[in-house]
Amino acid sequence: MAELTRADKYLLDAIRQGSSEGWSQLVERHQGRLLAFARSKLGQAAEAEDLVQETFISFLKALPNFRGESSIETYLFSILRHKIINWFRGRQVNVCQLQSLTKAGNDEQPRQAADQLLSPAPTASWYARRDEDHRLQHDVLTEALRELIDAYKKSLNFRNLQIIEMIFYCQLRNREIARIINVEENHVALIKHRCLKQIRSSVSEKLQIQSSRANLSQHPIDPSSDPPDALLTEIWQQQRLSCLKRNTIGAYPLGTLDEAWRDYVAFHLDRLGCEFCRANLEDLQQKSTRDDTGSLRRRIMESTVGFLNKP
Ligand SMILES: [Zn+2]
Repeated sequence: MAELTRADKYLLDAIRQGSSEGWSQLVERHQGRLLAFARSKLGQAAEAEDLVQETFISFLKALPNFRGESSIETYLFSILRHKIINWFRGRQVNVCQLQSLTKAGNDEQPRQAADQLLSPAPTASWYARRDEDHRLQHDVLTEALRELIDAYKKSLNFRNLQIIEMIFYCQLRNREIARIINVEENHVALIKHRCLKQIRSSVSEKLQIQSSRANLSQHPIDPSSDPPDALLTEIWQQQRLSCLKRNTIGAYPLGTLDEAWRDYVAFHLDRLGCEFCRANLEDLQQKSTRDDTGSLRRRIMESTVGFLNKP
């Protein structure tokens, strides 16, 4: 997913200055997809609406600290996901349907992903000790991952993208991935190895530039070790690095995408079952058939408008 667009920035500026019209526009744009996501997790319409409403309140409260490191949509989804995790008392909330179908994502094997989402430093040993370096490393690693994914997309290497998406975004085991896409387990391991190697060299290069700029004598991290899988998963899920643009999702049912892209979109939406993108698809489909979103928007507006800055 893209970072903050200029249109987003403009909208946020207006909201920060207390524009209720800007706020209403933001709510209108995002409430449907958030509600579709919450419903897919909770099943109960009333609770889903409550959590969406609370998500918008939290968004306004957190707005002064929002650094714009992700799109508004991704930021809202991450707030909502935290709320759903809290709702389930800390139980992990999968991002993809595929996770629920495999052992790795089963609730009998609770992982620390929920805690990771709630605390910013799950893998402190890989990071430097100093907090300011930590932020820098996180940003550099995010950039390296994003570049790798973009390169796969640009060269239409969707096969490898699917493999690393299943490894890092969905946390599937090599054996499961091999079975799902019908390749040798060795092949999956090889692609993962290559990918980590590339990330490492890209991170090392970026840090080199940063260090020389900042006149540091030393690298803040040891670039000879791989970043832990859990950290890559955390970044991938938080930033939704391989998620689809909304207009791509909209084009999918119309059959207007190129073959290579169409196959990848089908994989992401249907095979992987990315819950964020499926929520977007459902929202788009609902929007085209009916328009009863007004009452929820009114409810959200009434409950949130007090949190807006007074101009
Ligand atoms: Zn997605």
